Amino acid sequence: MSIIEQLQRIENEARNKVSSAKSVEELEKLRVAYLGKKGELTTILRGLKSLSPEEKKEIGGKANKFKSEIDSQIKDKKEQLADNVSTDPSFDYTLPGRPRRQGHRHLITITMDEVTDIFQRMGFEIAAGPEIESDYYNFEALNFPPDHPARDEQDTFYTEGGMVLRTHTSGIQIREFEKRKPPVKIIAPGRVYRNEAVDAGHFCVFHQVEGFYADSDVTFGDLKGVLEAFCYELFEEGVKLKFRPSFFPFTEPSAEVDVQCVLCGGKGCSLCKYEGWLEILGCGMIDPEVFKAVGYDPEKTTGYAFGMGIERLALLKYRVNDIRLLYENDTRFIKQFR
Ligand SMILES: [Zn+2]
Repeated sequence: MSIIEQLQRIENEARNKVSSAKSVEELEKLRVAYLGKKGELTTILRGLKSLSPEEKKEIGGKANKFKSEIDSQIKDKKEQLADNVSTDPSFDYTLPGRPRRQGHRHLITITMDEVTDIFQRMGFEIAAGPEIESDYYNFEALNFPPDHPARDEQDTFYTEGGMVLRTHTSGIQIREFEKRKPPVKIIAPGRVYRNEAVDAGHFCVFHQVEGFYADSDVTFGDLKGVLEAFCYELFEEGVKLKFRPSFFPFTEPSAEVDVQCVLCGGKGCSLCKYEGWLEILGCGMIDPEVFKAVGYDPEKTTGYAFGMGIERLALLKYRVNDIRLLYENDTRFIKQFR
């Protein structure tokens, strides 16, 4: 059989096999068998050495044409197979489908989304900032004196370079004030870190939403109105709030806010430790020292700030009794909150 005849035979055989191939894997095997380095075509071309230059030219041309045609036939067939699974005769259309498990948001994300959504509807923008923060943004500009206990290594994770893992998202307040002029109305959600002993109510990483508003005539009444509206949305319409005087370096006056126990309605239960109230956030009017640090005129600017822990809100709203459940990734727990 002459080389031309051999080529013709291989070409016919290859075309038939490719056109009746049933899977992409089969096509790939055919490609290797005919066109690969050890394939039939290559073997034939090795036999060309003994031929005259005219014959080499003729056969070489035919071989190249064969190669590119089979190559594109294989490609077309692959696409066809990918488009049309029906070429697989073993596929049974009458079988019931396999349910596909769908992922969903984690309870922390659900709560975070609820909280940010409520504040966005009240006109707050969202801002973010770095989790590894400088002492200036985490403490100094927020009016933490150098000897403030929160700076103590008991509470704060320090990096080797003297930076801190932010202990709150309040540093974003400073960063945004530096960039803008009042009015500024922002919430800053994010992860924060505290060097605390882990127990049912505490974890070394948690999520916070900080909110702040600076303008010319902001009052404590505005702050109360916003927080009340927020709690009505998150818990229930008309839920009672209690503002207790407190202290934070970056607000004056400051308050902590308790919400009437969502479980017992104030009568007393194990969730509220029989007090009828649950602490949910800290807030206050932004200290003039903070405005000075960002270059605002404290005579003309007033504002409020508040901060809350997302995990705590999630525990209260969804009646979860241990914060560690939020981080253990036990699907039996996670699946309950879709
Ligand atoms: Zn209670």
